[in-house]
Amino acid sequence: MRPEPAGGVSEGLNGLVTALQANYCSVALEGPGPGGAGQLLCTRRTRLAKSGQSICVGDRVRVEGIDWPAGRAAVAAVHPRSSLLERPAVANVSRIVVVVALAEPVADPLQLSRFLITAEASGTPVLPVLSKADLLPATAVADWCRRLQGWGYAPLAVAATTGQGLEALRQELQQPGITVICGPSGVGKSSLLNALLPALDLRVAAVSGRLQRGRHTTRHVELFGLAPGALVADTPGFNRPRLPRDPAALGALFPEVLAALARQGPCRFSDCLHQGEPDCSVGTAWERWPLYRQCLDDLQQDLERAPAPSSDPAGLRRRGGRLEPLLAARYRRSSRRSQRQQEEREDRGPGQS
Ligand code: GDP
Ligand code: ZN
Repeated sequence: MRPEPAGGVSEGLNGLVTALQANYCSVALEGPGPGGAGQLLCTRRTRLAKSGQSICVGDRVRVEGIDWPAGRAAVAAVHPRSSLLERPAVANVSRIVVVVALAEPVADPLQLSRFLITAEASGTPVLPVLSKADLLPATAVADWCRRLQGWGYAPLAVAATTGQGLEALRQELQQPGITVICGPSGVGKSSLLNALLPALDLRVAAVSGRLQRGRHTTRHVELFGLAPGALVADTPGFNRPRLPRDPAALGALFPEVLAALARQGPCRFSDCLHQGEPDCSVGTAWERWPLYRQCLDDLQQDLERAPAPSSDPAGLRRRGGRLEPLLAARYRRSSRRSQRQQEEREDRGPGQS
């Protein structure tokens, strides 16, 4: 039932962008509106659109011109962001959960590392979650956990099917702030979320219904409430996250490298790439060194193939020296269609639906 009108257009209110679609965004109000209205479908104020200000999922915004009976309003301002994850574009992220399966598909340390590197590049805390733990013997699961601990992480092993590790994961996700869940498709992210939050489907349906789209038919990100103040962004899977563009920045995305530098002090050369240079504090005797080398090679190749673009293929553009995601599909649909199709092919990967 629709809430009663509150007597015409109300004063502005603050809310959080929980989903984006073309020129609309879904905004969860910080406090309930008349009749308990909590979610508004919003356009952008013209002057905001003209200023080029982007809107991302996770943004705190000010909405004005609220039409309570219709559940519509317009975003008038975007509050400053504490962080911005680039791909998927999510603002104000508190932590990133990287999910990889221990089996089906078999765990690949390089792919896992690439996800971890991408997550680390955001500067937010990273939690690896090893899913489908029911498919391996307990000793093999424990070996994987120890391995990731050696990388500098505190992983959780979980199984949506048996419930193993779900309480520990719930504790993590109930921390205040926005948690982004990422990982390749097919590793069980949706199964985990559904196991943790049986009401999720309802909420998904509510948001998606308004926006006229299904949950899994979209590459867009949506935020779901798990506990008061704790939101989870379920991101579309992608199989090959991008590496940073600067080879010198790669090392700092490996916790082992940071730990070695903290222990041993800086390397002799400030631009050391930790490949056996004289007086390198990091050295080469660490488990992921071959993976680090491989990433370094891949990154060099990427750079040779595609020198610094004016606009990042992930849907980012440079504004005032900063990268910002593009919002309105209206503006990018035609020019970016082929890029997006390419990304979708990448994201599906071989044999993925
Ligand atoms: P997503 O693409 O990461 O969201 O993965 P889904 O949640 O759609 O799961 C992919 C497949 O893995 C489905 O066939 C699930 O039934 C299966 N699956 C998910 N979680 C588990 C688990 O804990 N154990 C096992 N054995 N299979 C799982
Ligand atoms: Zn070094």
